[in-house]
Amino acid sequence: MAEFTMELNDEQKEVRDWLHGFAADVIRPAAAEWDEREETPWPVIQEAAKVGIYSLDFYAQQYFDSTGLGIPMAMEELFWGDAGIALSIVGTGLAAVGVLANGTEEQIGTWIPQMYGDPNDVKVAAFCSSEPDAGSDVASLRTRAVYDEAKDEWVINGTKTWATNGGIANVHVVVASVDPELGSKGHASFIVPPGTEGLSQGQKFKKHGIRASHTAEVVLDDVRVPGSCLLGGKEKLDERLARAREKAKSGGERVKNAAMATFEASRPAVGAMAVGTARAAYEVALDYARTREQFGRPIIDNQGVAFQLADMRTQIDAARLLVWRASWMAVNGRPFTAAEGSMSKLFASETAKKVTAQAIQILGGNGYTREYPVERMHRDSAIYTIFEGTSEIQRLVISRTLAGMPIR
Ligand SMILES: Cc1cc2nc3c(=O)[nH]c(=O)nc-3n(C[C@H](O)[C@H](O)[C@H](O)COP(=O)(O)OP(=O)(O)OC[C@H]3O[C@@H](n4cnc5c(N)ncnc54)[C@H](O)[C@@H]3O)c2cc1C
Repeated sequence: MAEFTMELNDEQKEVRDWLHGFAADVIRPAAAEWDEREETPWPVIQEAAKVGIYSLDFYAQQYFDSTGLGIPMAMEELFWGDAGIALSIVGTGLAAVGVLANGTEEQIGTWIPQMYGDPNDVKVAAFCSSEPDAGSDVASLRTRAVYDEAKDEWVINGTKTWATNGGIANVHVVVASVDPELGSKGHASFIVPPGTEGLSQGQKFKKHGIRASHTAEVVLDDVRVPGSCLLGGKEKLDERLARAREKAKSGGERVKNAAMATFEASRPAVGAMAVGTARAAYEVALDYARTREQFGRPIIDNQGVAFQLADMRTQIDAARLLVWRASWMAVNGRPFTAAEGSMSKLFASETAKKVTAQAIQILGGNGYTREYPVERMHRDSAIYTIFEGTSEIQRLVISRTLAGMPIR
């Protein structure tokens, strides 16, 4: 187990500087254009693929880094560049993690390369869990997967919503219920391979922020996938369902805790995205406050402005520390006895909303225009308190964990 450290090692610093260079030179200059276009920035994803940032190798290297700092450091730098473009770059990684975590070696080897494509023909992937009537209450999802034993195929029907890259993905990972009576314990994940009949894109959403990231409904109408597309395989699923039925009779504590641990481990990454956006807005505001003069002196000479910057920086640093701690805990298998993963996401996402609003205030009228990036950063920051569990759900998880109450 790696000791917790707040220092990046030399190799990590090199990676951070390389990512920062890409974010500053390629992502940030393209941000306003793709925000206005509200389209997936394919040329930027391709650039990221050419230099090796958009690849499984890079993502896996950070994901398995035993210090736990690889993923938060990478997320912070890319999202510092721009949240919408960065989500277009890392969205595939979120689907890939679903396969890495639950798939067999064969499934990982077959499907993950198809999620990324290659630098000359980049592809993206989508992770589809949320539904119109199952957002926070993910256990109530209605998409059904039924096994057709004669053909060794699964038949999937349902409607997914809010899917990042939904409908434009080469590979979709779809969460469906195989046993509705078991609630979330009766869920399983399926690969829907490229070109599968019955999968189509529904509405593409026009959003408040992260507009360079594609978000859409995904309709599954009698989608048939081979038995081999069930992540983890049928034998493992049958064993898991049998265990869940047993546990359901005797309280189900172990299964609940396993599901919670997965969320606790993934939430710090979203916290790190929020830290990146907050830091970006803070830096713009600091720079502006030093150079903008009113009443014959830089506005930062006024305590009213300087104290805001002090608060902004303090909260960003505190958010990063919570994120790094939770990320280290996740990688090193530490139990989240106080829901530290949810805590980090809650604090960092609310910090990003607050700090980006303060940045607008410090830039005055300029902050309110699209000539300056902070209004975009503020719009972008609103997503962090919504996806991967809303702030209310984080508070619910933290408080129930502290109280020793079950989390449904
Ligand atoms: C841009 C974007 C990208 C997304 N990408 C993906 C993706 O790739 N894949 C995917 O599967 N999903 C994705 N999501 C879905 C996201 O995870 C959900 O939007 C989120 O979980 C909230 O669900 P909901 O929108 O249905 O809100 P609801 O669950 O309807 O919540 C509405 C409000 O009620 C509150 N609330 C609900 N229950 C409680 C409670 N028990 N106590 C207190 N308050 C409560 C919520 O906090 C919220 O304020 C994305 C969403 C967006 C907007």
